Amino acid sequence: MESKLPDVGLTIFAVMSRLAQETGAINLSQGFPDFDVSPQLIDRVTHHMQTGHNQYAPMQGVLALRAAIAAKVEALYGARCDPETEITVTSGATEALYAAVTALVRPGDEVLIIEPAYDAYEPVVRLSGGRPVFVPLSFPDYRIDWDAVARSISPRTRCLMLNAPHNPTGMVLAAEDVAALEAVADRHAFYVVSDEVYEHIVFDGRPHLSMVASPMLRDRSFVISSFGKTYHATGWKVGYCLAPEALTAEFRKIHQYLTFATSTPVQMALADHLSTCDDHLTLADFYQAKRDRFRDLLAATRLRPLACQGTYFQMVDYSTVSTEADVAFAHRLTAEYGVAAIPPSVFYHDRRDDRVLRFCFAKHDHTLEEAVEKLCRI
Ligand code: PMP
Ligand code: GLN
Repeated sequence: MESKLPDVGLTIFAVMSRLAQETGAINLSQGFPDFDVSPQLIDRVTHHMQTGHNQYAPMQGVLALRAAIAAKVEALYGARCDPETEITVTSGATEALYAAVTALVRPGDEVLIIEPAYDAYEPVVRLSGGRPVFVPLSFPDYRIDWDAVARSISPRTRCLMLNAPHNPTGMVLAAEDVAALEAVADRHAFYVVSDEVYEHIVFDGRPHLSMVASPMLRDRSFVISSFGKTYHATGWKVGYCLAPEALTAEFRKIHQYLTFATSTPVQMALADHLSTCDDHLTLADFYQAKRDRFRDLLAATRLRPLACQGTYFQMVDYSTVSTEADVAFAHRLTAEYGVAAIPPSVFYHDRRDDRVLRFCFAKHDHTLEEAVEKLCRI
């Protein structure tokens, strides 16, 4: 069969996690926490399963959850979203990204993708017949060059894929970034698909600058988040999309035939939890302490950590240790030293390789300590 995605292989997350498993390495590659989900939240899921909430949820999501999301978004970003017409619950952020891009992109449309980019973006754009136009972040400070973004815009530009806090680099938007984007958006008509799944993991007192908080950008944005990151429950695959009514209507046309709905008892439990607990407000401090611990430990190695402003990923420069390509180095690190990491060249269309690796620090301290002990042997 002729492939619709001839250049796509197995995602790096599956590749590295499998290698870690086969070799018994500590898995700091694929991003997932090794902490338990809150027992209260587990209790709520069990409760809703045991009290008969096991059939299809409404297509757009359980209303109580959409209302709880609206309350959170208003409290944090000062933006009012109508749960009926502007919020859709999805089966993870991955589904939301797919639905948003599919709703927007027509054959021949250009889509701006800032690189390194989460690996789901480009294939979805291509499946819709879109043409990705890549704009690199600067290196090693990983900032968006807004002049380069502006120069990449053409009459065919349909949307910008934005991700902040940024996976894999930990970059977080500053007020100047939002102002620069507003200035570009003022001159050109394009939509924004804003992947904000790490919205609650921003460090050093910085705020998360959501697209919903900008009245101008909000009107043209699909804002996507995920409960997986926030509640240490990546396996539950529940996310959501905020968008103005007209965009939400188009988004739901795709969502209804993609998954139709998302797990009912889990949505109901998330609604209970989000409306009664503030765990998301302490997540940044929790992960900042993890980041600091991991960076302190890394000081004993020959690896050099780059800046990390948010997310649970740390980029590490190994250029003084080896000239090997990052994919080869990541494989050798896993097989020979017992620690798995992600080679970020896979997040660039041209496989640009800056001799860095991405480590996930969403792990117990003892896991990080054991991993760094192994990294000290390099
Ligand atoms: N976007 C980014 C930037 C991510 O890191 C992830 C990771 N898991 C996702 C989207 C997908 O989220 P979900 O697991 O909720 O589908
Ligand atoms: N988002 C996670 C990461 O960046 C992985 C998600 C996945 O495995 N698809 O590591």
